[in-house]
Amino acid sequence: MIVGWRGGPFCGLAHATYIVVRNERAKLFGGSNVAAVIEKELLCKDFLTKSKKLLIDGKWVDAESGKTFETYNPATEEVLTRVAEGGKADVDKAVKAARKAFESGPWRKMSNAERAKLMFKLADSIEAHADELAQLETLDNGKPIKESRYVDVAQTIETFRYYGGWATKLEGETINANSDFFTYTLREPIGVVGQIIPWNFPMLMAAWKLGPALACGNTVILKPAEQTPLTALRIGELAMECGFPEGVINIITGFGADSAGSALANHMDVDKIAFTGEDKTGREILKASLGNLKRVSLELGGKAPNIVFADADIDAAVRGAITGIFFNQGQVCCAGSRLFLEKPIHDEFMSKLLERVGKMRQGQGMDEKTHIGPQVSKEQQERVLNYIDIAKKEGAKLECGGMAPEELGKGYFVKPTIFTGVNNDMRIAQEEVFGPVLAVIPFNNIEDVAEQANKTTFGLSGAVWTKDIKKAHRLAGKIKAGTVWVNCYNLLDPAIPFGGYKMSGYGRELGKHSIELYTNIKSVWVNLAE
Ligand code: ADP
Repeated sequence: MIVGWRGGPFCGLAHATYIVVRNERAKLFGGSNVAAVIEKELLCKDFLTKSKKLLIDGKWVDAESGKTFETYNPATEEVLTRVAEGGKADVDKAVKAARKAFESGPWRKMSNAERAKLMFKLADSIEAHADELAQLETLDNGKPIKESRYVDVAQTIETFRYYGGWATKLEGETINANSDFFTYTLREPIGVVGQIIPWNFPMLMAAWKLGPALACGNTVILKPAEQTPLTALRIGELAMECGFPEGVINIITGFGADSAGSALANHMDVDKIAFTGEDKTGREILKASLGNLKRVSLELGGKAPNIVFADADIDAAVRGAITGIFFNQGQVCCAGSRLFLEKPIHDEFMSKLLERVGKMRQGQGMDEKTHIGPQVSKEQQERVLNYIDIAKKEGAKLECGGMAPEELGKGYFVKPTIFTGVNNDMRIAQEEVFGPVLAVIPFNNIEDVAEQANKTTFGLSGAVWTKDIKKAHRLAGKIKAGTVWVNCYNLLDPAIPFGGYKMSGYGRELGKHSIELYTNIKSVWVNLAE
């Protein structure tokens, strides 16, 4: 995942790499100028005006209760559309359909190559609807359209293609343990999989979940976040058009606790739950799994250390710090929310950082010039503003931002905010804010920073900026986190595993590691003895 544009503030990449990736991604959109397209026409207008139902057993149906809920544009606070509110009865129906599709439908009889072909077809269809999906994501989530287009949509396509490739590469092993027996392993799909996803990367999280599950031959019930249900529904429509058999992909929009989410997590006929979200919800999911001891994978929060040594390329590190905390309005589980600066460069770094942050344009995501959009909801905006108050009360020094921008009027915006003078024990340095709030902490040397960096309950990611290759590798080995970036930030790729240490969860998504999450291994013994 590449999160920088040339000359823009999110420029955490080596320039050459960035240009190659940007040009490749631009091709996805046929060189179209999205701003011009948006001025003429909202490509997702038709989708927004249609009623939004649940996808169960290949059919679009209302919730059993008949209930619906509103989804908002967080930049304008206006209602975008109403969506069916699925509950326990709908989850029961979807699980039944998924079980039937898994046990006796055409899906299990399909060859791996046919499954791969369907997944490639879906990737092609998403590519053909890329501009429309980018608009939909920006309207529902608030993120800048450039990010929706070049990160969310582009990575969604790449993820489906990557896992489409895996469908034909699933293998067991033969193990020559004893000459009297022929012993081998089969790699089999787990069965019916529930997938509960968050609102920060709605479409991409759907792809991270659906991609490996489908490649391995499972059937799925996907529960998008209530704040951002739209792109998952549109992908469901495209999947049906591509010919995925009924019951293979089911989508239940609705709420989490005491509703569709918990019904799915508790369900006795669901074989696995994959969850991405807050750590406290992760605990609820785990408790709910106890009934049938279903398998669970969790990708939870983070409080990543972004560490800059005095010998680093300071300008690159400044861009990396901005990418680290302000990309996606700070609503990123691997956000570099703790910036550790080696003492000799603290002041120089801060003045460059503040100058660059001062040039960031905040506004509606649909505006091509926007660098930072609104938080996803009023609740999120209030949570972030509350953490800003806490930081002030704890004695941190506010360097910029610290409030909602009055000049923007409506929308759930929070200005890019930076605190210096932060102590690693303060709440602002220990708790996940999930917003555009950076805590800057000075450090003395590698031992000091390694200890502070690891003094957190989380362990999703971290970064090191230095020109000293030995120091970089030494620290990469010391940081207790699932990903460490060296002289870059926020890079993700479908082939590279991603997941947490400590309270950031367990299980690795992406790469071949996701295949482990969605398959069972069976050992077969054949007696050859005379
Ligand atoms: P946030 O608090 O930032 O919205 P959550 O972890 O609560 O993040 O939400 C992530 C996903 O988990 C959403 O799809 C939400 O509906 C779902 N969810 C929330 N609570 C529960 C729960 N108790 N059981 C199952 N799913 C839940």
